[in-house]
Amino acid sequence: MSFTGGLCVPVAVKELLERPGYFTKADGGAFLREFYIKESVKFDPFKLSRFAQAVFCGHYDLVKQAVDNGVSPDLTGTETPFLYGYATILVLGAQRIMQARPGSFRFSETLELLLSRGVPANIADILGCTVLHHSNSLLSSNKGLFQCLLRHCADPARRNRFGEVCLVGALHHGNLSMLSVLLDVNVDFTLEDADGYSAWKHFPTCGSQVVAMVMKWDRKRTGTSAAYEDKVCDNCGERRASLKICSRCKLVRYCSVCCQAAQWAHHRTLCKPFSTANSARVVPYFSSIMTSTTAQQRSRLPAMCLYPESAHGLGTAVIPMAQVPKDLVLGPKTLVVKIQVACSGDITGMADLMVYTKKHHFACMIRRCDGVEGYQRIKDVIRSRGPGGLKAYFVAVLLSEDCLLVRVSDVLAEQQW
Ligand SMILES: [Zn+2]
Ligand SMILES: [Zn+2]
Repeated sequence: MSFTGGLCVPVAVKELLERPGYFTKADGGAFLREFYIKESVKFDPFKLSRFAQAVFCGHYDLVKQAVDNGVSPDLTGTETPFLYGYATILVLGAQRIMQARPGSFRFSETLELLLSRGVPANIADILGCTVLHHSNSLLSSNKGLFQCLLRHCADPARRNRFGEVCLVGALHHGNLSMLSVLLDVNVDFTLEDADGYSAWKHFPTCGSQVVAMVMKWDRKRTGTSAAYEDKVCDNCGERRASLKICSRCKLVRYCSVCCQAAQWAHHRTLCKPFSTANSARVVPYFSSIMTSTTAQQRSRLPAMCLYPESAHGLGTAVIPMAQVPKDLVLGPKTLVVKIQVACSGDITGMADLMVYTKKHHFACMIRRCDGVEGYQRIKDVIRSRGPGGLKAYFVAVLLSEDCLLVRVSDVLAEQQW
């Protein structure tokens, strides 16, 4: 007896899948993806075998009993016309059930049991998706499941029929816990899918938390460093919100005067005030930003263009408006800013740059027509040193409403905003 799980694969799809190699979008990939997504919605766990239903629910006792008594189906086998292996079925269950009642099902123990009793960790379904591909959209509370899969030799370099590795999905879903597990095993960012798309090309558009995590990992791997990382005291390493900034260079932070003094012998060679050599002078342009973009255009923006909490509710996204800090009258203001090359693409090479502070109490544009030199200097640094050439964080001083100095000599570590 075969169990359909409510799924069906038409002959046309079967025939297409018999073709060897990976599918590009244009060459059947788009069609296959659409079919897979639409058909997956019909997935019905009640149309699985009793054993698979127990796996789906993370019902440890029932699964163990069946395996121990030799009444389980072949553990290396699959169910449904999609050819789901038992590890995949468990992950599909964890995705659905954890959302309803976190913690009440024993997915981790059940997965551990299955993998140690012979369920393959790299079995692929009809579209070549392994259990790791399916884990992309698991909740972050399931970090243990990713770790368990990798411990049992699930291979993050496996590609599906589009040539995609699971990493791309983890980035796309902003799945930080899966991402951190994959980074721990130094996953390869350069593997390209059939359309030439790689994780390295994709991640800069995946929201600021993903970008910060990947860039930090990359710096560690390559042994490079960046200023302002993780808001720690430059001397003792203490992390806290209320650190004092070095008033001269604005690039390091200290928890106390003692720490500043202790570090001075080392820091003095790096500590340089703003100058024309290390900073670009630009004229901020204050106008409402991005009010003319459509929801569809915004959906293609990195989440950093929006307030973080509304990054997923694009329809109701709050668009940051141009703003001059209200206390500017009190004197020049030092700011940490994110500067981003225009979201709608930069086909002409002349698109405005967008500038924000974390809480958007300062937001402006930098227009090429207001001064080519400063504009170009900033843009060159973003292009060459920002992730994906899209954006970078800098220290800046707002001297007046008409004058912003951006310290382009030092690209700051990615902040989580
Ligand atoms: Zn300190
Ligand atoms: Zn300094």
